[in-house]
Amino acid sequence: MQEFVGIVVKAVLQVLAVVAAITLVVTVHSCVSRPTPPPVAAPETALTGLSGPPVLAIGLAAASGAQPPSVSVDGPYRIFFDRQADPSRAGASLPGLPVSCSPYGIFLGNEEVLAREVEVVPDRDGSLRVGKRTYHGRLRLVRSDAGRLFVVNLIDLETYLSGVISGEMKLDWPDAALRTQAVAARTYALWELKRSRAEPATPGVDFFDDVSAQVYLGMERENARARRLVEDTRGQILVFAGALVPALYHSNCGGHTEPGHLYFEVADLPPLAGRKCGYCDHTSLSSWKVTYTKREIAERLFPRGGKKVVTKVRVVETAPGGHAARIGVATSDSTKELVYNAKDFRLALGPDRLRSTAFALRDLGASYEFAGRGWGHGVGLCQYGAKGMADQGFQSPEILQYYYPGAELVRIY
Ligand SMILES: [Zn+2]
Repeated sequence: MQEFVGIVVKAVLQVLAVVAAITLVVTVHSCVSRPTPPPVAAPETALTGLSGPPVLAIGLAAASGAQPPSVSVDGPYRIFFDRQADPSRAGASLPGLPVSCSPYGIFLGNEEVLAREVEVVPDRDGSLRVGKRTYHGRLRLVRSDAGRLFVVNLIDLETYLSGVISGEMKLDWPDAALRTQAVAARTYALWELKRSRAEPATPGVDFFDDVSAQVYLGMERENARARRLVEDTRGQILVFAGALVPALYHSNCGGHTEPGHLYFEVADLPPLAGRKCGYCDHTSLSSWKVTYTKREIAERLFPRGGKKVVTKVRVVETAPGGHAARIGVATSDSTKELVYNAKDFRLALGPDRLRSTAFALRDLGASYEFAGRGWGHGVGLCQYGAKGMADQGFQSPEILQYYYPGAELVRIY
Protein backbone atom coordinates (compact mmCIF):
# COMPACT_ATOMS: atom_id res chain seq x y z
CA MET A 1 0.00 0.00 0.00
CA GLN A 2 1.36 3.36 -1.00
CA GLU A 3 2.07 5.56 1.98
CA PHE A 4 0.22 8.82 2.24
CA VAL A 5 1.17 11.84 4.20
CA GLY A 6 -1.32 12.17 7.02
CA ILE A 7 -3.30 15.32 6.55
CA VAL A 8 -5.83 16.55 9.02
CA VAL A 9 -8.55 18.06 6.90
CA LYS A 10 -9.96 20.85 8.98
CA ALA A 11 -12.97 21.34 6.78
CA VAL A 12 -13.87 17.70 7.14
CA LEU A 13 -13.56 17.84 10.88
CA GLN A 14 -15.66 20.96 11.04
CA VAL A 15 -18.48 19.41 9.12
CA LEU A 16 -18.17 16.34 11.29
CA ALA A 17 -18.38 18.48 14.42
CA VAL A 18 -22.10 18.14 14.60
CA VAL A 19 -23.72 16.90 17.74
CA ALA A 20 -27.19 15.52 17.39
CA ALA A 21 -29.56 17.42 19.60
CA ILE A 22 -31.94 14.70 20.46
CA THR A 23 -35.11 15.70 22.12
CA LEU A 24 -37.52 13.04 22.97
CA VAL A 25 -41.12 13.75 23.68
CA VAL A 26 -42.91 10.93 25.32
CA THR A 27 -45.92 10.11 23.20
CA VAL A 28 -46.33 6.41 23.36
CA HIS A 29 -48.86 4.29 21.55
CA SER A 30 -48.23 0.76 22.69
CA CYS A 31 -46.89 1.85 26.05
CA VAL A 32 -49.02 4.17 28.16
CA SER A 33 -46.80 6.87 29.52
CA ARG A 34 -46.51 7.69 33.21
CA PRO A 35 -43.26 9.18 34.44
CA THR A 36 -41.13 11.11 32.00
CA PRO A 37 -37.84 9.28 31.65
CA PRO A 38 -34.70 11.34 31.16
CA PRO A 39 -34.04 12.26 27.53
CA VAL A 40 -31.55 10.30 25.50
CA ALA A 41 -28.26 12.12 25.65
CA ALA A 42 -26.52 13.11 22.47
CA PRO A 43 -24.11 10.52 21.04
CA GLU A 44 -20.89 10.71 23.00
CA THR A 45 -18.75 11.20 19.93
CA ALA A 46 -18.90 14.93 19.47
CA LEU A 47 -16.33 14.75 16.68
CA THR A 48 -14.79 18.09 17.42
CA GLY A 49 -11.50 16.60 16.32
CA LEU A 50 -10.45 13.09 15.55
CA SER A 51 -7.44 11.62 17.25
CA GLY A 52 -8.78 8.17 16.43
CA PRO A 53 -11.81 6.45 15.00
CA PRO A 54 -15.17 7.78 16.23
CA VAL A 55 -17.59 5.48 18.02
CA LEU A 56 -20.62 4.70 15.86
CA ALA A 57 -24.10 3.80 17.06
CA ILE A 58 -25.16 1.14 14.54
CA GLY A 59 -28.81 0.17 14.71
CA LEU A 60 -29.31 -3.58 14.31
CA ALA A 61 -32.31 -3.52 11.99
CA ALA A 62 -33.49 -7.10 12.40
CA ALA A 63 -33.12 -7.04 16.21
CA SER A 64 -34.97 -3.71 16.37
CA GLY A 65 -37.98 -5.28 14.64
CA ALA A 66 -41.08 -6.91 16.01
CA GLN A 67 -39.42 -9.95 17.57
CA PRO A 68 -37.71 -9.20 20.91
CA PRO A 69 -34.07 -10.24 20.65
CA SER A 70 -32.04 -12.02 23.30
CA VAL A 71 -28.74 -10.61 24.53
CA SER A 72 -25.88 -12.79 25.76
CA VAL A 73 -22.41 -12.12 27.09
CA ASP A 74 -19.98 -15.00 27.18
CA GLY A 75 -18.02 -13.68 30.16
CA PRO A 76 -18.11 -10.91 32.78
CA TYR A 77 -20.27 -7.90 32.02
CA ARG A 78 -21.74 -4.73 33.51
CA ILE A 79 -25.07 -3.04 32.78
CA PHE A 80 -25.59 0.73 33.01
CA PHE A 81 -28.95 2.54 33.12
CA ASP A 82 -29.31 5.93 31.41
CA ARG A 83 -25.53 6.42 31.15
CA GLN A 84 -25.02 6.55 34.91
CA ALA A 85 -21.40 6.38 36.03
CA ASP A 86 -21.85 3.27 38.15
CA PRO A 87 -23.16 -0.03 36.85
CA SER A 88 -26.62 -1.07 38.00
CA ARG A 89 -26.00 -4.77 37.33
CA ALA A 90 -22.97 -6.99 36.84
CA GLY A 91 -22.31 -10.67 36.52
CA ALA A 92 -19.94 -13.45 35.47
CA SER A 93 -21.90 -14.18 32.29
CA LEU A 94 -25.24 -13.32 30.73
CA PRO A 95 -27.09 -16.22 29.15
CA GLY A 96 -29.76 -15.29 26.57
CA LEU A 97 -31.58 -12.39 28.24
CA PRO A 98 -34.75 -11.46 26.30
CA VAL A 99 -35.16 -7.69 26.02
CA SER A 100 -38.17 -5.66 24.93
CA CYS A 101 -40.02 -2.42 25.41
CA SER A 102 -41.99 -2.31 28.67
CA PRO A 103 -44.93 -0.04 29.53
CA TYR A 104 -42.67 2.51 31.22
CA GLY A 105 -39.16 1.48 30.28
CA ILE A 106 -37.32 -1.61 29.15
CA PHE A 107 -37.81 -5.28 30.06
CA LEU A 108 -34.60 -7.15 30.88
CA GLY A 109 -36.01 -10.65 31.10
CA ASN A 110 -38.98 -10.33 33.47
CA GLU A 111 -37.56 -7.27 35.19
CA GLU A 112 -38.90 -3.88 34.14
CA VAL A 113 -36.25 -1.16 34.29
CA LEU A 114 -37.52 2.42 34.35
CA ALA A 115 -34.85 3.70 32.02
CA ARG A 116 -34.78 5.16 28.57
CA GLU A 117 -31.47 3.48 27.81
CA VAL A 118 -29.73 0.34 28.99
CA GLU A 119 -26.12 -0.34 28.06
CA VAL A 120 -24.54 -3.79 28.22
CA VAL A 121 -20.76 -3.61 28.50
CA PRO A 122 -18.81 -6.87 28.17
CA ASP A 123 -15.43 -6.92 29.93
CA ARG A 124 -13.95 -8.91 27.05
CA ASP A 125 -14.35 -7.63 23.49
CA GLY A 126 -16.11 -10.02 21.13
CA SER A 127 -18.10 -11.79 23.87
CA LEU A 128 -21.37 -9.98 23.10
CA ARG A 129 -24.13 -11.76 21.21
CA VAL A 130 -27.49 -10.56 19.93
CA GLY A 131 -29.56 -13.52 18.84
CA LYS A 132 -27.05 -15.76 17.05
CA ARG A 133 -24.72 -13.01 15.87
CA THR A 134 -21.56 -11.99 17.72
CA TYR A 135 -20.37 -8.38 17.99
CA HIS A 136 -17.40 -6.32 19.00
CA GLY A 137 -17.98 -3.37 21.30
CA ARG A 138 -20.97 -2.65 23.51
CA LEU A 139 -24.72 -2.87 23.20
CA ARG A 140 -27.19 -0.11 23.88
CA LEU A 141 -30.93 -0.60 24.11
CA VAL A 142 -32.78 2.62 23.34
CA ARG A 143 -36.49 2.98 23.99
CA SER A 144 -38.03 5.40 21.50
CA ASP A 145 -40.79 7.84 22.29
CA ALA A 146 -43.15 5.65 20.28
CA GLY A 147 -42.47 2.67 22.51
CA ARG A 148 -40.11 0.85 20.17
CA LEU A 149 -36.87 -0.71 21.31
CA PHE A 150 -33.82 -0.02 19.16
CA VAL A 151 -30.89 -2.39 19.57
CA VAL A 152 -27.67 -0.51 18.93
CA ASN A 153 -24.09 -1.74 18.63
CA LEU A 154 -21.56 0.84 19.85
CA ILE A 155 -18.38 0.20 17.95
CA ASP A 156 -15.42 2.20 16.74
CA LEU A 157 -15.31 2.97 13.03
CA GLU A 158 -12.23 0.87 12.23
CA THR A 159 -13.58 -2.26 13.92
CA TYR A 160 -16.95 -1.69 12.25
CA LEU A 161 -15.22 -1.62 8.84
CA SER A 162 -13.88 -5.16 9.28
CA GLY A 163 -17.50 -6.29 9.58
CA VAL A 164 -18.58 -4.14 6.64
CA ILE A 165 -16.01 -5.31 4.11
CA SER A 166 -16.89 -8.87 5.13
CA GLY A 167 -20.55 -8.13 4.41
CA GLU A 168 -20.12 -6.04 1.30
CA MET A 169 -17.40 -7.93 -0.57
CA LYS A 170 -16.21 -11.49 -0.95
CA LEU A 171 -13.27 -12.08 1.35
CA ASP A 172 -11.48 -14.24 -1.20
CA TRP A 173 -11.11 -11.24 -3.53
CA PRO A 174 -7.65 -9.65 -3.98
CA ASP A 175 -6.13 -7.46 -1.25
CA ALA A 176 -6.28 -4.32 -3.40
CA ALA A 177 -10.03 -4.74 -3.98
CA LEU A 178 -10.72 -5.15 -0.25
CA ARG A 179 -8.51 -2.17 0.67
CA THR A 180 -10.42 -0.13 -1.92
CA GLN A 181 -13.69 -1.24 -0.33
CA ALA A 182 -12.39 -0.31 3.14
CA VAL A 183 -11.59 3.27 2.08
CA ALA A 184 -14.93 3.67 0.28
CA ALA A 185 -16.85 2.23 3.25
CA ARG A 186 -14.96 4.41 5.78
CA THR A 187 -15.64 7.55 3.74
CA TYR A 188 -19.28 6.62 3.22
CA ALA A 189 -19.76 5.87 6.94
CA LEU A 190 -18.36 9.28 7.94
CA TRP A 191 -20.56 10.98 5.36
CA GLU A 192 -23.63 9.16 6.71
CA LEU A 193 -22.56 9.99 10.26
CA LYS A 194 -22.31 13.67 9.46
CA ARG A 195 -25.70 13.60 7.79
CA SER A 196 -27.51 11.63 10.49
CA ARG A 197 -26.05 13.62 13.38
CA ALA A 198 -27.14 16.85 11.71
CA GLU A 199 -30.67 15.51 11.22
CA PRO A 200 -31.20 12.31 13.22
CA ALA A 201 -33.82 10.08 11.66
CA THR A 202 -33.83 7.63 14.59
CA PRO A 203 -32.88 8.88 18.07
CA GLY A 204 -29.74 7.19 19.35
CA VAL A 205 -28.94 5.54 16.00
CA ASP A 206 -26.37 6.86 13.51
CA PHE A 207 -27.43 4.44 10.79
CA PHE A 208 -28.52 0.83 10.43
CA ASP A 209 -26.68 -2.38 9.58
CA ASP A 210 -28.58 -3.15 6.37
CA VAL A 211 -28.62 -1.91 2.78
CA SER A 212 -30.13 1.40 3.92
CA ALA A 213 -26.50 2.26 4.76
CA GLN A 214 -23.93 -0.56 4.55
CA VAL A 215 -24.35 -4.24 5.24
CA TYR A 216 -22.68 -5.02 8.59
CA LEU A 217 -22.75 -8.56 9.94
CA GLY A 218 -20.92 -8.04 13.23
CA MET A 219 -18.17 -10.65 13.53
CA GLU A 220 -20.06 -13.19 11.42
CA ARG A 221 -17.65 -13.44 8.48
CA GLU A 222 -14.87 -11.21 9.73
CA ASN A 223 -11.43 -12.75 9.89
CA ALA A 224 -7.81 -11.77 10.53
CA ARG A 225 -7.24 -10.90 6.89
CA ALA A 226 -10.23 -8.54 6.80
CA ARG A 227 -8.90 -6.80 9.93
CA ARG A 228 -5.40 -6.53 8.48
CA LEU A 229 -6.62 -5.06 5.18
CA VAL A 230 -8.74 -2.47 7.01
CA GLU A 231 -5.74 -1.66 9.22
CA ASP A 232 -3.62 -1.13 6.06
CA THR A 233 -5.88 1.82 5.19
CA ARG A 234 -6.47 3.07 8.75
CA GLY A 235 -7.90 6.61 8.81
CA GLN A 236 -7.80 7.01 5.01
CA ILE A 237 -10.75 8.74 3.41
CA LEU A 238 -11.65 10.45 0.13
CA VAL A 239 -12.20 14.19 0.02
CA PHE A 240 -12.98 16.61 -2.76
CA ALA A 241 -12.58 20.39 -2.38
CA GLY A 242 -12.07 19.85 1.36
CA ALA A 243 -15.30 17.95 1.90
CA LEU A 244 -16.08 14.27 2.34
CA VAL A 245 -16.98 12.48 -0.88
CA PRO A 246 -20.29 10.62 -0.62
CA ALA A 247 -18.42 7.45 -1.55
CA LEU A 248 -21.31 5.44 -2.93
CA TYR A 249 -20.58 2.00 -4.32
CA HIS A 250 -22.44 -0.88 -5.89
CA SER A 251 -21.88 -4.41 -7.07
CA ASN A 252 -21.57 -4.22 -10.86
CA CYS A 253 -22.07 -1.22 -13.12
CA GLY A 254 -22.78 -3.17 -16.31
CA GLY A 255 -20.08 -1.27 -18.22
CA HIS A 256 -20.43 2.40 -17.20
CA THR A 257 -21.02 4.18 -13.87
CA GLU A 258 -23.45 7.09 -13.53
CA PRO A 259 -23.62 10.64 -12.11
CA GLY A 260 -24.59 10.37 -8.43
CA HIS A 261 -26.80 13.46 -8.40
CA LEU A 262 -29.22 11.82 -10.85
CA TYR A 263 -30.12 9.24 -8.20
CA PHE A 264 -29.14 10.53 -4.77
CA GLU A 265 -29.29 13.77 -2.82
CA VAL A 266 -25.66 14.58 -3.45
CA ALA A 267 -23.91 17.45 -5.18
CA ASP A 268 -22.84 17.12 -8.82
CA LEU A 269 -19.19 16.29 -8.04
CA PRO A 270 -16.42 15.18 -10.43
CA PRO A 271 -15.68 12.07 -8.29
CA LEU A 272 -19.29 10.95 -8.80
CA ALA A 273 -19.66 12.06 -12.43
CA GLY A 274 -19.69 8.53 -13.83
CA ARG A 275 -17.26 6.90 -16.24
CA LYS A 276 -16.65 3.92 -18.46
CA CYS A 277 -15.73 0.91 -16.37
CA GLY A 278 -14.46 -1.84 -18.60
CA TYR A 279 -13.32 -4.04 -15.70
CA CYS A 280 -16.56 -5.77 -14.71
CA ASP A 281 -17.46 -7.40 -18.04
CA HIS A 282 -17.61 -11.16 -18.42
CA THR A 283 -18.99 -11.77 -14.93
CA SER A 284 -22.20 -13.61 -14.13
CA LEU A 285 -23.83 -10.24 -13.48
CA SER A 286 -23.05 -8.86 -16.93
CA SER A 287 -26.50 -9.58 -18.28
CA TRP A 288 -29.84 -10.81 -16.96
CA LYS A 289 -33.53 -10.94 -17.84
CA VAL A 290 -36.55 -10.67 -15.58
CA THR A 291 -40.27 -10.48 -16.32
CA TYR A 292 -42.92 -8.65 -14.30
CA THR A 293 -46.62 -8.82 -15.08
CA LYS A 294 -48.29 -5.43 -15.37
CA ARG A 295 -50.44 -6.44 -12.41
CA GLU A 296 -47.29 -7.07 -10.31
CA ILE A 297 -45.87 -3.71 -11.32
CA ALA A 298 -49.13 -2.02 -10.25
CA GLU A 299 -49.18 -3.88 -6.93
CA ARG A 300 -45.60 -2.92 -6.16
CA LEU A 301 -45.87 0.71 -7.20
CA PHE A 302 -49.29 1.27 -5.66
CA PRO A 303 -49.55 -1.10 -2.67
CA ARG A 304 -52.66 0.75 -1.48
CA GLY A 305 -53.79 1.63 -4.97
CA GLY A 306 -56.87 -0.56 -5.17
CA LYS A 307 -57.41 -1.68 -8.74
CA LYS A 308 -54.96 0.58 -10.54
CA VAL A 309 -54.01 -0.94 -13.88
CA VAL A 310 -50.61 -0.22 -15.43
CA THR A 311 -50.97 0.36 -19.18
CA LYS A 312 -47.46 1.45 -20.14
CA VAL A 313 -43.95 1.61 -18.67
CA ARG A 314 -41.21 3.46 -20.53
CA VAL A 315 -37.76 4.91 -19.98
CA VAL A 316 -38.27 8.69 -20.01
CA GLU A 317 -34.63 9.65 -19.55
CA THR A 318 -31.43 7.69 -19.88
CA ALA A 319 -28.29 8.56 -17.88
CA PRO A 320 -24.95 9.00 -19.74
CA GLY A 321 -23.80 5.48 -18.88
CA GLY A 322 -26.93 3.78 -20.20
CA HIS A 323 -28.88 3.25 -16.97
CA ALA A 324 -32.43 4.54 -16.94
CA ALA A 325 -32.62 7.81 -14.98
CA ARG A 326 -36.39 8.31 -15.06
CA ILE A 327 -39.18 5.87 -15.66
CA GLY A 328 -42.67 6.85 -16.81
CA VAL A 329 -45.70 4.77 -15.79
CA ALA A 330 -49.15 5.25 -17.31
CA THR A 331 -52.27 3.90 -15.62
CA SER A 332 -55.80 3.38 -16.88
CA ASP A 333 -57.35 5.77 -14.35
CA SER A 334 -55.36 8.84 -15.33
CA THR A 335 -54.21 10.63 -18.46
CA LYS A 336 -51.15 11.86 -16.59
CA GLU A 337 -47.98 9.77 -16.74
CA LEU A 338 -46.27 9.25 -13.38
CA VAL A 339 -42.51 9.79 -13.57
CA TYR A 340 -40.23 8.00 -11.10
CA ASN A 341 -36.57 8.32 -10.32
CA ALA A 342 -35.38 5.01 -11.76
CA LYS A 343 -33.68 4.15 -8.44
CA ASP A 344 -37.00 4.42 -6.61
CA PHE A 345 -38.79 2.47 -9.33
CA ARG A 346 -36.25 -0.33 -8.93
CA LEU A 347 -36.52 -0.32 -5.12
CA ALA A 348 -40.32 -0.54 -5.40
CA LEU A 349 -40.10 -3.49 -7.79
CA GLY A 350 -37.53 -5.27 -5.60
CA PRO A 351 -33.80 -4.53 -6.00
CA ASP A 352 -32.75 -8.18 -5.86
CA ARG A 353 -35.06 -9.11 -8.74
CA LEU A 354 -34.76 -5.96 -10.84
CA ARG A 355 -31.02 -5.91 -10.36
CA SER A 356 -30.23 -2.54 -11.89
CA THR A 357 -31.73 0.29 -13.90
CA ALA A 358 -29.56 -0.52 -16.95
CA PHE A 359 -32.27 -2.35 -18.85
CA ALA A 360 -34.17 -2.46 -22.13
CA LEU A 361 -37.95 -2.89 -21.84
CA ARG A 362 -40.09 -5.16 -23.98
CA ASP A 363 -43.88 -5.04 -23.80
CA LEU A 364 -45.15 -8.64 -23.90
CA GLY A 365 -48.81 -7.71 -23.54
CA ALA A 366 -49.70 -8.74 -19.99
CA SER A 367 -46.12 -8.30 -18.81
CA TYR A 368 -42.84 -6.48 -19.36
CA GLU A 369 -39.48 -8.08 -19.91
CA PHE A 370 -36.51 -6.21 -18.47
CA ALA A 371 -33.26 -7.24 -20.17
CA GLY A 372 -30.47 -5.67 -18.15
CA ARG A 373 -26.83 -5.43 -17.19
CA GLY A 374 -25.04 -5.19 -13.86
CA TRP A 375 -26.31 -5.10 -10.28
CA GLY A 376 -26.89 -2.06 -8.09
CA HIS A 377 -27.46 1.66 -8.54
CA GLY A 378 -24.41 2.23 -10.73
CA VAL A 379 -22.97 5.20 -8.81
CA GLY A 380 -19.38 5.46 -7.56
CA LEU A 381 -17.21 2.39 -7.09
CA CYS A 382 -18.07 -0.69 -9.16
CA GLN A 383 -17.07 -3.56 -6.84
CA TYR A 384 -16.64 -6.11 -9.64
CA GLY A 385 -14.65 -3.48 -11.51
CA ALA A 386 -12.40 -3.05 -8.46
CA LYS A 387 -11.83 -6.79 -8.45
CA GLY A 388 -11.11 -6.72 -12.20
CA MET A 389 -8.54 -3.94 -11.72
CA ALA A 390 -6.98 -5.69 -8.71
CA ASP A 391 -6.69 -8.90 -10.76
CA GLN A 392 -4.72 -6.89 -13.32
CA GLY A 393 -2.31 -5.64 -10.66
CA PHE A 394 -3.71 -2.19 -9.85
CA GLN A 395 -3.37 -1.03 -6.23
CA SER A 396 -6.19 0.49 -4.21
CA PRO A 397 -5.18 4.19 -4.65
CA GLU A 398 -5.28 3.65 -8.43
CA ILE A 399 -8.64 1.89 -8.23
CA LEU A 400 -10.07 4.66 -6.03
CA GLN A 401 -8.78 7.29 -8.45
CA TYR A 402 -10.36 5.45 -11.35
CA TYR A 403 -13.84 5.20 -9.84
CA TYR A 404 -13.81 8.51 -7.88
CA PRO A 405 -11.85 10.68 -10.33
CA GLY A 406 -10.36 13.81 -8.77
CA ALA A 407 -10.94 12.68 -5.19
CA GLU A 408 -7.99 13.13 -2.85
CA LEU A 409 -6.97 10.27 -0.58
CA VAL A 410 -6.10 11.67 2.86
CA ARG A 411 -5.54 10.27 6.33
CA ILE A 412 -7.49 11.90 9.16
CA TYR A 413 -6.01 9.93 12.08
ZN1 LIG B 1 -18.18 -1.89 -13.65
